[in-house]
Amino acid sequence: HAKEQGRGRYRFFDAELRTRAVRKLALDVRLRHALERGELEVYYQPQVETGSRRVVATEALLRWPDGRGGFVASPGEFIPLAEETGLILPLGDWVMESVCRQAHAWRDQGLPPLSLSFNVSSLQFGQRDFVASLRGALDRSRLDARRIGLELTESVLLEDVDEGIRRMEGLKEMGVQLMIDDFGTGYSSLAYLRRFPLDYLKVAQEFVRGLETNPQDASIVDAVIALSKTLGLKVIAEGVETQGQLDYLVERRCDLIQGFYFGPALPADDFVALLEQGPIWTMRS
Ligand code: C2E
Ligand code: MG
Ligand code: MG
Ligand code: MG
Repeated sequence: HAKEQGRGRYRFFDAELRTRAVRKLALDVRLRHALERGELEVYYQPQVETGSRRVVATEALLRWPDGRGGFVASPGEFIPLAEETGLILPLGDWVMESVCRQAHAWRDQGLPPLSLSFNVSSLQFGQRDFVASLRGALDRSRLDARRIGLELTESVLLEDVDEGIRRMEGLKEMGVQLMIDDFGTGYSSLAYLRRFPLDYLKVAQEFVRGLETNPQDASIVDAVIALSKTLGLKVIAEGVETQGQLDYLVERRCDLIQGFYFGPALPADDFVALLEQGPIWTMRS
C-alpha cells in the first residue's frame, strides 16, 4: 500500500516538474520573441532625496506587457529564467541602451537632471566587453556617465574579486555610479566591501518591510546606514511603503527613499507626468 502511495506521489511530482519545465521553456521562447519584436518596456520608479525632498533619481525596471493592460510575467519570474538561459545578455544590453536613450531624450526635453540606475546581472557584469559596451551606449547617447548608476548584487563580487574590482575601477574612471542592490541578503564580506569603489548601498526591501514591527530588521537597517556612513557611501532604502518606515529612515538620515509610498515604477511618460505634478513629498504628507 505504502509503495503504491509512494509511486503515486512520485508520479505527481514528476508531472508537476514537467509542467514547470514546459512553462519555463515556453516562457523563454516567448521572452526571446518579445525582445526581438520590441514588446518589452522599461518602467521608472522615483527615488526621493530626503535632504531636498525631491525626486533626484530613478530606477529602471524591466516590464513585459501583455498588450491587454497586464503583464505576461513579473521580472521576479522571467529574470532568473533569462539568467539561466543566457537571454539576460541581449536583454541586459537592450535595457542599458534603452536607459541611455531615455536619459538623452529627457535631457533634450529639458527635464531637470536626474540620475538613472539600472540592474546589471552578474552574468552581464562578468562579460569581458561589459565596460566597453556601456561606454558605447553612453557615447551614442552623448551622456554624462555620472548620471548613470549600475545596481549590482553581492554575487558579482564573489566570482573573481580582483577582476571585479578592476572592472569597477574602469567604470568609476568613466564616472558611472556603482551601487550594491539588496544589500545584506548576499554573502559579501566587509573586507571586500572596503575594496570596492562603490557610491551607494541599497538596503534590501526585506529589512525595510519589518522596520516598524521587527526590532531585528530595524537593527539591520541601522547597521547598514551606519556602515554606509563609515565607508563614505550614500544609502538608499527600497520598498518603503508606510509613513512610519519613511519617518524612521528620515530620522536616521537615509539619503534616498524608493518605494510604493512615493509610487511604483511607471512607463516613461507617466513618470514625467508624476514629476510635473509638483513636489511629491508635500503631496503625501
Ligand atoms: P530590485 O532591483 O531589488 O528592484 C526592486 C523591486 O521592488 C522591483 O520589483 C520594484 O517594483 C519593487 N518595489 C519597489 N518599491 C516597492 C514597495 O514599496 N513595495 C514592494 N512590495 N515592492 C516594491 P520588480 O520590478 O518586480 O523587479 C524584481 C527584481 O527583478 C529586481 O529587484 C531586479 O533584481 C530584477 N530586475 C528588474 N528589472 C531588471 C533588469 O532590467 N535587469 C536585471 N538584470 N534585473 C532586473
Ligand atoms: Mg535594483
Ligand atoms: Mg533591490
Ligand atoms: Mg529586491
